[in-house]
Amino acid sequence: MNSHCQVILADAARHFDRAWTYRVPESLRGSIEIGSLVLVPFGTRKEPLRAFVTGFPEMPPGGYDEGKIREVHRVLSNGPVVTEEQIALASEMKRRYYCTMGDAVNAMVPPAVLAVGGREVRFARLVDTAEAADLLDSGDLRSMKQVRVIELLLEHEEASCAEIRQAADVSQGILNTLAKNKVIEFFNRTVRRDLSDEIEETEPSVKPAPTGAQCEAIEKIEAAVMSAVKGKLSEFLLFGVTGSGKTEVYLQASERVLARGKTILILVPEISLTPQMTRRLVSRFGERVAILHSRLTPAGRYEMWQRVLAGEVPIVVGARSAVFAPLKNLGMIVIDEEQESSYKAEMKPRYYAADIARIRAIMNGAVLVLGSATPQVSSFWRAENGLSTILRLPDRISDYGMADVDVIDMRAEYARGNLSIFSERLAAELTYTIDRGEQAMILLNRRGFSRTVICRKCGWQMRCPQCDIALTSHRNPYGGQSRMVCHLCERLARVPAYCPVCGSEEIMAYGAGTQQVEEEILRRFPHARVLRMDQDTTRGRFSHREILDAFERHEADVLVGTQMIAKGHDFHNVTLAAILSADQLLGTGEFRAPEHAFQLMTQAAGRAGRGLKKGRVIIQAVQPDHFVVKAAAGQDYEAFYREEIVFRKRMRYLPFGHIGMAQFKGFSRLDTEDAARAFYREAAQMIRRYGGTFADTILAEASPAPIEKIRSRYRFRVMVRDESAENLTRLLFITADHLKRPKGVSLAIDIDPWSTF
Ligand code: ADP
Ligand code: ZN
Ligand code: ZN
Repeated sequence: MNSHCQVILADAARHFDRAWTYRVPESLRGSIEIGSLVLVPFGTRKEPLRAFVTGFPEMPPGGYDEGKIREVHRVLSNGPVVTEEQIALASEMKRRYYCTMGDAVNAMVPPAVLAVGGREVRFARLVDTAEAADLLDSGDLRSMKQVRVIELLLEHEEASCAEIRQAADVSQGILNTLAKNKVIEFFNRTVRRDLSDEIEETEPSVKPAPTGAQCEAIEKIEAAVMSAVKGKLSEFLLFGVTGSGKTEVYLQASERVLARGKTILILVPEISLTPQMTRRLVSRFGERVAILHSRLTPAGRYEMWQRVLAGEVPIVVGARSAVFAPLKNLGMIVIDEEQESSYKAEMKPRYYAADIARIRAIMNGAVLVLGSATPQVSSFWRAENGLSTILRLPDRISDYGMADVDVIDMRAEYARGNLSIFSERLAAELTYTIDRGEQAMILLNRRGFSRTVICRKCGWQMRCPQCDIALTSHRNPYGGQSRMVCHLCERLARVPAYCPVCGSEEIMAYGAGTQQVEEEILRRFPHARVLRMDQDTTRGRFSHREILDAFERHEADVLVGTQMIAKGHDFHNVTLAAILSADQLLGTGEFRAPEHAFQLMTQAAGRAGRGLKKGRVIIQAVQPDHFVVKAAAGQDYEAFYREEIVFRKRMRYLPFGHIGMAQFKGFSRLDTEDAARAFYREAAQMIRRYGGTFADTILAEASPAPIEKIRSRYRFRVMVRDESAENLTRLLFITADHLKRPKGVSLAIDIDPWSTF
C-alpha cells in the first residue's frame, strides 16, 4: 500500500503546477498521508523541492515508465499540514484566480505551519518601518525583488524567510543583501508556545432573550443547518441596521449549531477594529473560540491552527484569511459586514473570501450567513432572486435613536459667495461642537487624488457616455495638463469650457484632500486639536489603532480622515459627523461608487450620537437631489437599492456582468507599457480566434492606471468586460499563459476588482 503518491509542488511556476507521481520508499510508508509536506527531487535541481501529498494512486498512472519514477526524499511534517478539503479548495482557487496550487496553499496556511522541520524558524522583519517606507518612496531601490520584500514586510510586519522567498519570489541572496544594508534583520523564533496569553480574560456574559425578529432568524438558520446537504448552497442575508442585534443572532445561532455537533467559522473585516465582537464571542464560548488575527505572533497562529486542525476548537473567528481555517464538520459560516472591501485579497492569489466561503459551504453542507446594514447591491440582489434568504431585523434594540441627517446644497453656498470647503452651517456646527467639549468627525473621499469635474452652478458631473461612471482626472507623471479619463473603457476627454447643461463657466475639479481640511480647521479654530487619519498618517505599525484610541481618549476635538474613520468604532462623545463632498464619493470613477458612497454616508451617520447625546450628520453636496444622497439622508437602503439595481442592469455591471483587469507593474515605463500592449494584442487575437465564445466580450486597449506610478513602479493595465465571469477568467488566463513577459514586469489578474485604480 501507498507505494506511490501524488504531489503538487509548493513553489512551482504555473508551468510545473500539476500533480507529479513519486514512489514512496518502504521506510516512509507509515508516515506519509494526504496533506503531508515532503521533499522530492525534481528535474535537474540540485536541492529537493517542497511538495504537498495530494493522493495515493493505486498504480502509477499509465504512460509512466516505472523506472523513471523518482522517490520521495523525505517527509517534513509530522502529520498533514493541509486538509483534503484545502487541497480541493486550492484547485478551485487555481481555476478561479490566476495562481498556482502552491500560491493557494501558501495563502491558506500560516507560514509557521509550513516552516516545519525544526522548532527554530528563521524570521525577518524591517529594521525601521518608516525608513523602509521612505526608501520605497524615494525610488532609489532599483531592484524590484527588494521592493517586493519590503512591501511584504510593511504589510505583514514579520514573516519567516521561507515565506518571504515564496511570496515575494526572491532568493535568500536578496534577503541577505537587504540585511547587510540594514533594511531588514533576521531573528529566530521558536515555533511552539503557550497560547494562554493570547486570549484576554473576560467575564462570562448573560445571554439576552432574543426579540421576535431575532428568534425567527435564529430558528431559520438552525433549520437550514439541519437540512443542509453537501453540493447545495444554503445562504442567508441578515439585514439590519447597526444595533439591531445581528451579532446576538450569530451568537445564539452558533450555540444551536454547536449543540448539533458542528463547527462555526465567523469572519469579521478586521479583528483589531471589532474588539466588541471577539470579546462577546469569548465571553460566551470561552476556550471553544480560536481567534485568528494578524497581530497574533507566528507562534500563536501556529498553535491556534494546530488546535483547530486537531478538532479541539469548534469556533474560529478571524479576518479574511481565516476563511481557510481547517475546521471539520462545518455547520455555519458567518461573514459580518459583508460589504467590506477587506474580504477581497489584494495580493496574489487575489481571492474573495465570500467566494471561498460559498465553496466551503457547498463542500461541507454548511450554511452561509452574510450580515450587513448596507449589503452590497449584488448580495441584496441574490436575496431578491432566491439565491439567498433574507432575514430582517427591522429595529434597533435600544433606542438611542438615529442621528438627524441634513444635506447642504453647496451650489447655494457658492451662489452666496462662500467658496470655502465648509458650508456656513457646518462651520457653525463645528463651533458649537468644539465649544461644548464634544467631538466631530469629518470624512472625505477615500481617494484624495481622484478628482471629478463638476459644474458649481447646476451640479452637472462629467461622465463617460459609454460606461456612465464619472470621469476622473488622470495625473500625468511628467506634469502638464491632466486629462479626464474613464477607468473602464479608457476613453479620454477634455474638460469643456462651458457646462453642457446650464452653460456656466464655473466648471472645476472638485474635492479637497484631508490635509487641506486639517489646515482649514486650524485656520478657523486655532485652538482646536485635530487628528488626521489617511494613508499618509497610518503607514507605521499600529498608528491606525493609535489614532483612533487617542481620539477616543478625547485627545483631539476633530478627527479628519478618509473612509477608515467611519468603521466599527463607537465614540461616545462624537456628536457631529460631516461628509464634505458627497459628490466626490459618487465620482470616484468606479462602478461601485454609488454603493460605497451610500455605505460610507450611512456608516458616518451611525457614528454620530452613539452616546446619550443626540447626533447630527451633515452631508455637503452639489447634487443634493442625487438618489444616493437622498437615500442616505433618509437612511433608506432599499430606496437606494431599487434605483441602483436598474442602473447596474442597464450598464451590465455586477451582478449582471463582470470586469477583469490584467495589471502590469515594473520599473521601466517602456517595458511595462509594452507588456500591457502585448497582452492586449494577444487577447484581441484570442477573441478573434474563438469568435462565438467571446462575441460579447468588450476589450479595452492597454492604458496607464489612473495613478500611473506608485513607489517608483509604473502601472499599465488591460480591462475586459463580459457577462460571464468564467469566460473572462478563461480569456485572461489563456492570454497570460501565452505571453512572454519581459523581465522585471509583474502581472496580476483580478476578476471583479474592488478598485480599478
Ligand atoms: P448589531 O450586531 O446588529 O450591531 P448587536 O447584536 O451588537 O447588534 O446588538 C446591539 C446591542 O443590543 C448590544 O449591546 C447587544 O448586547 C444588545 N442586544 C442584542 N440583542 C438583544 C436582546 N434580544 N435583548 C437585549 N439586548 C440585546
Ligand atoms: Zn451647469
Ligand atoms: Zn467608459
